[in-house]
Amino acid sequence: MRIGHGYDVHRLVVGRDLILCGVQIPCEKGLLGHSDADVAIHALMDAMLGAAALGDIGRHFPDTDPRYKGISSMKLLEHVVQLLSSRGLQAVSVDVTIVAQRPKLKNYMDEMKKNVCTALSLPEDRVNIKATTTEGMGFEGEGLGISSQAVALLMPTDTEN
Ligand code: MG
Repeated sequence: MRIGHGYDVHRLVVGRDLILCGVQIPCEKGLLGHSDADVAIHALMDAMLGAAALGDIGRHFPDTDPRYKGISSMKLLEHVVQLLSSRGLQAVSVDVTIVAQRPKLKNYMDEMKKNVCTALSLPEDRVNIKATTTEGMGFEGEGLGISSQAVALLMPTDTEN
């Protein structure tokens, strides 16, 4: 088994869509970034790459590369799944925490989880997506940005699990 951790932050700005785990969430602000800035999926990909000792998403998908401009991070996650698969590895359990003061994400959790389950070909009991506020403190609390942390457990693809 291999375990990895990921962390990411994006700035909240007017004029961008807010996309978390592939779900577009109604909000007057969205996350700024070269891709769709899906901070939750970025943290998850970094956790998966970290567990495989394959660096980070900045190395695999540089923000200077025009191919990744505006790209859905779910597409990038597909790449990471394939990359791990080519190394004989698969994610078997993942847990993602989104830190945002607002908007409330409760109503979007099921869809977010479904997207991750589909991307990782995992059943519902192997994927967890959760959200917390910081009770108004710090950059997330002040609504300046959203952060996310994730852990991923990988197993060899030939293992029964
Ligand atoms: Mg990012």
